[in-house]
Amino acid sequence: MATTFIDKARISVRAGDGGNGAVAFHREKYVAAGGPDGGDGGRGGSIVVQVDDNMSTLMDFRYKRKYVAPNGMDGQGGRRSGKDGQDLVIKVPRGTLIRDAESGEIIRDMSDDQPFTLCRGGRGGWGNAHFATPTRQVPRFAKGGLPGQAHDVILELKLLADVGLVGFPNVGKSTLLSVVSRAQPKIANYHFTTLYPNLGVVWVDEGVSFVMADIPGIIEGASQGAGLGHDFLRHIDRCRLLVHVVDVSGSEGRDPVADFDAINEELSQYSPQLAQRPQIVCANKVDILEDPENLQRLRAHVEAKGYPLVEISAAAHQGTRELVGLIARTLSALPPVAVYAPEYVPKAPAVDASAPLDIHQEEDGTWIVEGPWLRQLMSNVNFADYESRMWFDKVLRESGLFQRMEEMGVQDGDSVCLYDFEFEYQR
Ligand code: GDP
Ligand code: MG
Repeated sequence: MATTFIDKARISVRAGDGGNGAVAFHREKYVAAGGPDGGDGGRGGSIVVQVDDNMSTLMDFRYKRKYVAPNGMDGQGGRRSGKDGQDLVIKVPRGTLIRDAESGEIIRDMSDDQPFTLCRGGRGGWGNAHFATPTRQVPRFAKGGLPGQAHDVILELKLLADVGLVGFPNVGKSTLLSVVSRAQPKIANYHFTTLYPNLGVVWVDEGVSFVMADIPGIIEGASQGAGLGHDFLRHIDRCRLLVHVVDVSGSEGRDPVADFDAINEELSQYSPQLAQRPQIVCANKVDILEDPENLQRLRAHVEAKGYPLVEISAAAHQGTRELVGLIARTLSALPPVAVYAPEYVPKAPAVDASAPLDIHQEEDGTWIVEGPWLRQLMSNVNFADYESRMWFDKVLRESGLFQRMEEMGVQDGDSVCLYDFEFEYQR
């Protein structure tokens, strides 16, 4: 019974590395020395995150926590490029926040249908065909591929709904959702039934609809010790309106006024802003109302606090149409569902540039610079971006690379090759 609804998960993702470039020479009968024809390595597969509306929990991530996209293939002779690694698409329920595991900052709110590239695959290395120039006809070198990006992230589901149903267990929340929408939540006459949030679309009029969420109770989880309780409240965080369902029938010996206050108390303990959220109060089960005084007391109590009260019987479909109308009118005056802005700014990764690089000169005069940290650095540079290029230049300068090259006799105008980046040396 106590299946836990998974709405938070930590995963590690890693994009594929780029394939290596090839060193090869064209061979033909009677042709002594063919030209260089080693192809480039393929790009590593990226990690892409995409919303899937068939998913409603992060359950899958409990069992699979590591996601690795395939590497690019190595280049081959005959100028054949290596195949790119396929992107790995990770599907998440709508409303999932991707956070940086270290800082907790939001990287992306997966609320729209736009696929999001979380980690870029490494660029493939150049084959020697790529290095051929009129003055350098037989390059005997190629470049290794660059590593793919990796990230530890936390996925956190915060449902995307206009309306959140709140109230004690068994007051009729699931029944109400099933009556006004096509959702088919579990309905049962015992407590602790709903442990999964259910979403339903409520059609009001042509072109007018809203999403209603049946949020598993605040009280259910807490009293059951299932580790839920306040955890579930994060799903109402973004609701624009709360529909607070109260059982006024007295059939379970409950006091509606005490119930109403208890739920509001829970809400404000979790978040004062949430307690300020507009509410519509539903006095449910009026079809079996035992004591009309209960209803009157609740009405007076609620209206004194400025909330509208609607009498309904969810089971008998009584008053539900009016309720839907009131919800729609109230929503039209409220701001749209909150989409969280990214907080995480990709930092330039710390580069330990103290290890000496391998510098050598090819017979055609090209300088080749290699080394583990340089490879890592290259994979994080976006050459289309000015800031990124400046950072790259700063790290190289501070590493003492240019000074060492001067000592080794580099001349202005010499070609310098750093993986897939080639430039003419200028003092
Ligand atoms: P939830 O725990 O708040 O989701 O409550 P449910 O929707 O599962 O309903 C709990 C019980 O109350 C079920 O047996 C429902 O059939 C019953 N119920 C819900 N609404 C009404 C109503 O308006 N009138 C009556 N008589 N019973 C209702
Ligand atoms: Mg329920």
